[in-house]
Amino acid sequence: MGRIEVIKEVYRRLKEIFPIPYRPNRTPVEQAVFTVLSQNTTDRNAEKCLNNLKKVTGGNLLKLAELPESTLISAIRPCGMFSQKLKGLKALVSNWPKIEERLRKLPPEEGIELLTSLPFVGSKTARVILTFAFEKNTFPIDTHCYRVLKRLGIFPESWDKDRISEFMEKHFDGEFNRVFHYNLIRLGRTICKARKPECEKCPLKDLCGYYREKKETKEEK
Ligand code: SF4
Repeated sequence: MGRIEVIKEVYRRLKEIFPIPYRPNRTPVEQAVFTVLSQNTTDRNAEKCLNNLKKVTGGNLLKLAELPESTLISAIRPCGMFSQKLKGLKALVSNWPKIEERLRKLPPEEGIELLTSLPFVGSKTARVILTFAFEKNTFPIDTHCYRVLKRLGIFPESWDKDRISEFMEKHFDGEFNRVFHYNLIRLGRTICKARKPECEKCPLKDLCGYYREKKETKEEK
């Protein structure tokens, strides 16, 4: 099988074990704020901080930059890295009225450029915002996604996250990439864990380079 066929097969099998695709119910600005909050922490912590921010801003996140720093810090403290995140959030919400419509209209690559010009927004964060807030065709790669893809060996070892994202964006549509991204994360959290992947339970083992290598090493012993 060529690379495209392998990706389609992995997608199909993951959809069988994770049948319901994730669809967060957030406004675009809530999604953008959530994405900044969720860096280097769990979704649960980010959700908690998003709710704290909604509470202190009376439901209007665009007012965030007007609030005292101490109020904001206690709202986002559970997420960690709060001084960098605060700086990122302030820049994001104060620019939001100017950029929201542009992000909706711009092609994804220009949206990525616009978002990454803000502090604390890297290309992965920009892609998550564009995928989940504006349904653009982007393929964000977080650590779970990256680990699973690397182990599967679908892409050359030398390809970095941006190169893999660009390949996926070129060859697949937005719905495919959104579901694939999310299901790779789910596999990475439940089966293909960082320390001890549970390969025997995994529906992808016959497609996986890491599994093949492990099996061959065992057989040689
Ligand atoms: S077979 Fe093992 S290493 Fe490969 S994707 Fe599945 S859990 Fe991960």
